[in-house]
Amino acid sequence: MGRVGFAAAAACAVAACAVAAALVGRRVRARRRWWRAVEVVGEFEEGCATPLGRLRQVVDALVVEMHAGLASDGGSKLKMLLTFIDTLPDGSEEGIYYALDLGGTNFRVLRVQLGGKGSMILSHKVESQPLPEELKSGTSEILFDYIASTLKNFVEREEDDSQQKTDERRALGFTFSFPVRQTSVSSGFLIKWTKGFSIEDAVGKDIARGLEEAMTTKGLNMRVAALVNDTVGTLALGHYYDQDTVAAVIIGTGTNACYIERTDAIIKCQGLLTNSGGMVVNMEWGNFWSSHLPRTSYDIALDEESPNRNDQGFEKMISGMYLGEVVRRVLQRMAQESDLFGDATQNLSVPFSLSTPIMAAMHEDDSPDLERVRQIMEQNFQMPHVPLKTRRLIIRVCDIVTRRAARLAAAGIVGILKKIGRDGSGRSRSKSQRTSVAIEGGLYTGYSNFRDYLNEAVVEILGEEVARNVILRVSEDGSGIGAALLAAAHSLDR
Ligand code: ADP
Ligand code: MG
Repeated sequence: MGRVGFAAAAACAVAACAVAAALVGRRVRARRRWWRAVEVVGEFEEGCATPLGRLRQVVDALVVEMHAGLASDGGSKLKMLLTFIDTLPDGSEEGIYYALDLGGTNFRVLRVQLGGKGSMILSHKVESQPLPEELKSGTSEILFDYIASTLKNFVEREEDDSQQKTDERRALGFTFSFPVRQTSVSSGFLIKWTKGFSIEDAVGKDIARGLEEAMTTKGLNMRVAALVNDTVGTLALGHYYDQDTVAAVIIGTGTNACYIERTDAIIKCQGLLTNSGGMVVNMEWGNFWSSHLPRTSYDIALDEESPNRNDQGFEKMISGMYLGEVVRRVLQRMAQESDLFGDATQNLSVPFSLSTPIMAAMHEDDSPDLERVRQIMEQNFQMPHVPLKTRRLIIRVCDIVTRRAARLAAAGIVGILKKIGRDGSGRSRSKSQRTSVAIEGGLYTGYSNFRDYLNEAVVEILGEEVARNVILRVSEDGSGIGAALLAAAHSLDR
C-alpha cells in the first residue's frame, strides 16, 4: 500500500471510529435519559408510600379531626355537618316517589315505587345524563330551571294524565352533593361549591327553596321533602336493605362519607338536638387533611394550580376528578427530564387531558404487549411509537396513584369505624359485631384495581378476624334511590 492509500485507510478508520463513538454516545445518553425517567417514577413511588404504619397514623388523625369537627364549627377541616336525619328507611315505606341526583359528572332523575313491608322496591327507573358543562358556572336560576324542566319531562313520560292531575303535592328527594349547612331534613344553605362548580349566586342560598321555586314556575306540584347529599342517600339505601349499615362512602368524581353518630357526641349542637339516639353526620371528608398523608411535589403543584387551593386535600389524592391528572403530571415530568416522548412532550402539558377512566383503561390493559396503552397514547397524546418498556412504566405510574388513593380511602373507612367503636379495638364485643358500609361511585364500582386495593387495605388495617365482620357493599344508584326513600320516610315531617 502506498502512502496515499495508507492515509486514506487511516482516515476511514478514524471516521468509522467517530461514527461508532457517536452511536455509542447516543445510546449511552439515551440509556441515561431512560434511567432518569425510571428514577422520576421511583422517587414518586417513594413519596406515595402507604405502609401499614402510615395508614394507622391516617386512621388516628381522622378520628382526632372527627372529634374536633363535632366539638365546634370550624374546629377542624372536617365540617362534620348535621343532617337532621335521625330515622333511616327500614322497608316499611310505601308509594311513588321521585328523586334528583346532582353532584358531579352526571345528573339523574329517578322514580321509585315502594311496596311497604315485605315487598320493598317494586320498581325503579333512572335516567342519567351528563350535566352540560356551561351550567356549572352560570346562575342558580339557569341551573334550577334546567333541573326542573328535566324532571317535568321525565314525570310526563312516566305517568298518564290521571296520575299527573293529582292535587296532592308530591314529596321529592333531592340529592345535592356539595357542602350544605342544613337547617332541617328538607332545607339547607350551600356553604361552597366543589368538583369544578362555581355558581356564585347560589352560595349561601337555601337550595331546596331555590329548586321549589323553579318547579312551581314549571307547574310541577312537588316539594323537597329530603335535601341530602350522595353519601346520605347511599346510607339510606344501604340501611333499607341491611340495618347493620352504619356508614356510607362515595368514591366517584369527588369523595365523601357520612355515618351514624351518637347524638350526645355531637357537642357543638347539643341545644338543637332533641333525639337521644343517633343522627347521620355528613363528614365532608374530601377536605380532610393531615401531615401523615403522603404528599408529593405533584400534589402540591396540582393544588396550587387548582381554583380551590388548600381545600379538598384528601379528595385531590383520592377521587376520580384528580387521579388521571396526577398521572399526567408525572408523565410530563418524566418526559421533560428524559426526552422519553420526543417532540410530543408538549402534548402532555394540557391540564386534565388524561381522565381517570382513560388512566384506568391503561392500568387494566392485560394484553402481553400493552396494545391498549399504545392506542391510548397515540389517540390522546399523538404519540404513535411509545415502546413497550415505556408503556410498562406508564402502567407503573397509574398503579402508584391508584394504590395510594385506594389505601387512603380504606384508612378513612377504618377511621370512621374506629370513631364509633367498630374497628375491633377496645371492647371485645365489637370484634364479632356485624358492620356494613355502603359504597357508591364510579371510581369504586368501575375500576377493579382500585376496588381490590381498597378492599385489601381494609383487611390489612383491621386484621382478618375483625374484617370478617365488616362488609363493604356497593349500593348501586344509592345516592338517588336513597333520596327517594328518605323523601318517603320524611314525607309527613312538614
Ligand atoms: P358522580 O361522581 O358524578 O356522581 P359517578 O359516581 O358515576 O358520578 O362517578 C363518575 C366518576 O368516576 C368519573 O368522573 C370518573 O372519574 C370515575 N370513573 C367512572 N368510571 C370509571 C372507570 N371505569 N374507571 C375509573 N374511573 C371511573
Ligand atoms: Mg354520584
